[in-house]
Amino acid sequence: MFHGREIKRVVVKVGTSTLTHQSGHLNMQRIDHLCRVLSDIKNSGIDVVLVTSGAITAGVNKLKLKKRPEDIKGKQAAASVGQSELMFLYDKFFSQYGYTVAQLLLTKSVTEDPQLRENVTNTLETLLNLGAIPVINENDAVAVEEIVYGDNDMLSAVTANLINADLLIILSDIDGLYEENPSENPDARLIAVVDEITPDIEAVAGGSVSGVGTGGMVTKINAAKFAVPHGTDVVIANGDRPEHLYEIIEGKPVGTLFKGVR
Ligand code: ADP
Repeated sequence: MFHGREIKRVVVKVGTSTLTHQSGHLNMQRIDHLCRVLSDIKNSGIDVVLVTSGAITAGVNKLKLKKRPEDIKGKQAAASVGQSELMFLYDKFFSQYGYTVAQLLLTKSVTEDPQLRENVTNTLETLLNLGAIPVINENDAVAVEEIVYGDNDMLSAVTANLINADLLIILSDIDGLYEENPSENPDARLIAVVDEITPDIEAVAGGSVSGVGTGGMVTKINAAKFAVPHGTDVVIANGDRPEHLYEIIEGKPVGTLFKGVR
């Protein structure tokens, strides 16, 4: 039970920093572990949708590039190569735990067009009814919003809204939202619960310093601002231990909870 209510649908967003080693290569053990825990959560009767980054990194490795492209079109090309690699891995690992994946490449603008929004919603609902696990990424060949500034944080909030998710879990390389950027102040304290996203809360988010992620806390808070008014609870937590997902769903105090408006 999550804070007095049953969770029926969860969207989990995983960022590049969670999916990759410091070396820049994909962290296979982490991806496998994440798929195992998500499969088990699905076994418990909860609909699971995964929003994943990591396509550029996968593409850089597959193309054996010496470094990550700095230009947008280079990133788009790497993402196009890496997307199939990423899906291959999700397919392989989820199949191992008995689940079928579906790939959806979305852009925020798709969900702003009423007809396209309805189409995507119908596809997602049908996939969930079929017992599949939708795996969503931005359509990086077409749109660059998340490449440039989001790392899929906003896309995960939009997805949560499309399927009326009870809970959105944004996994990051840090335990949650701190009162100050911990890389600048190591004594900064974790904020356990945010009842309301006030300007003070927005002010504590600095830019990303992980180097591989692009979003930082700013885009995570923007994602929470989008999801919370629709009644979705949002938790930002560390992706280093996927079993934390069990505790989050049980309502244990892990990470930072932004309470959905009800
Ligand atoms: P991801 O790739 O997981 O989305 P990011 O690197 O984009 O992660 O964002 C998380 C980073 O945001 C943290 O590692 C931290 O350096 C930075 N950050 C800035 N301000 C804060 C804050 N107030 N609390 C937590 N992290 C913060």
